[in-house]
Amino acid sequence: MADKLNAVKGMNDILPPDSARWEWLEDKVRDLMARYAYRMIRTPVVEPTQLFVRGTGQTTDIVEKEMYSFEDRLNGEQLTLRPENTPGVVRAAIEHNLTYDGGKRLYYMGPMFRHERPQRGRYRQFYQLGAEVLGHPGPEVDAELMLLAHQLFTELGLQDIRVEMNSLGVPAERQAHRAALVAYFEQHQDVLDADAKRRLHTNPLRILDTKNPAMQQMAAGAPQLLAYLGEASLKHLDTVKALLDACGVRWSINPRLVRGLDYYSHTVFEFITDQLGAQGTLCGGGRYDGLFEILGGKPTPAVGWGMGLERVLELLKEQGTATGAPAPDAYAIVPDAQALPVAMRTLQALRAAGVSVQMHAGGAEGFGSMKSQFKKADGSGAHHALVFGADELAAGEVTVKALRDGQGAQQRRPLATPQDWAATLRA
Ligand code: ATP
Ligand code: MG
Repeated sequence: MADKLNAVKGMNDILPPDSARWEWLEDKVRDLMARYAYRMIRTPVVEPTQLFVRGTGQTTDIVEKEMYSFEDRLNGEQLTLRPENTPGVVRAAIEHNLTYDGGKRLYYMGPMFRHERPQRGRYRQFYQLGAEVLGHPGPEVDAELMLLAHQLFTELGLQDIRVEMNSLGVPAERQAHRAALVAYFEQHQDVLDADAKRRLHTNPLRILDTKNPAMQQMAAGAPQLLAYLGEASLKHLDTVKALLDACGVRWSINPRLVRGLDYYSHTVFEFITDQLGAQGTLCGGGRYDGLFEILGGKPTPAVGWGMGLERVLELLKEQGTATGAPAPDAYAIVPDAQALPVAMRTLQALRAAGVSVQMHAGGAEGFGSMKSQFKKADGSGAHHALVFGADELAAGEVTVKALRDGQGAQQRRPLATPQDWAATLRA
């Protein structure tokens, strides 16, 4: 036999029955997005590397060490598997002038790629749901986006997720704060780790959200951006807070929550759980009013978030929330090949009428005994068995047998008019 090939480390197959949980989640998302009037956007999985260098930021973990980049062998272009989708959405918005007639509310779902150390909740291919609002400067859309994420978690039945937020103000406010921050860190050189020393002059804000316990006490005492916010920025933040309050969403301010990129402004936020260990951030986002310009577009305010769907599913499992297990309405039992034309025609009609039916498929030895077929029917979880036996067919009928009512009640139904009794099969 030939050598066996395996999936790339950190990239997972999603198999049945687990894939049904994904579909369940994706259906919930689509339904919710429709009610908030957000429209789907799909952009390519591969983008020019420069999009992320500029749009995600040279000094981020993603660009410094996590990107899958390669050269197109045919024309030498530098390409990257998208590590996140915000830059792609903004690129598309600029390219197609999406905001020419006003703001747009968009969402996406799909795979992202980051070369990280695989562990629970951290993979090299993972799925993100994201929502972005383009072209609206006001705090009401920041609040709306947070309400959207909050409502999704509520409708999924998830509990104990806290909302942390902060404001990064505007560039001038950040510059004043940055100077104070660098001075503070310079006084604490002895505590800074190698990463922090490197970031001191490139991206000092990022030192604030260090995951190194030895630095956290020092970081906690650093000057807070909140103290540098002017009146307009404070008002923006206060409005977001007031709108969340009005809608009954509890939040807290985390002054060390930063996104650390120059194009971020005003609101930043995260939805966090304590039940997934170190990978507890389910959703992170913020306002990125500067990004359009960085990517060559006209100044356009924008705000959005990204959510890791593996983490959401993991938390659903952790909290024991049921996620509808699919079973067909009916399983068709076919004694032999002669029954196939009538059986398959009937099943087509039933499916067209909204019934889900799984047909027994034969093996090399034929279709197997009735007993073994009933066993399969039972195992499929179906509520009914449809028996296309010779007796039945001779009478122009099919036997419908209840598999889950405890007594196996059965009835004959006419083959000529499946649409008339299809509804009785539906669970
Ligand atoms: P972290 O601090 O956990 O690395 P991040 O700041 O890199 O997160 P974002 O870029 O904000 O994450 O992505 C948004 C969300 O996507 C995260 O909150 C998380 O739920 C999810 N996510 C990020 N990286 C991964 C990954 N490698 N595997 C699975 N989910 C991920
Ligand atoms: Mg990361």
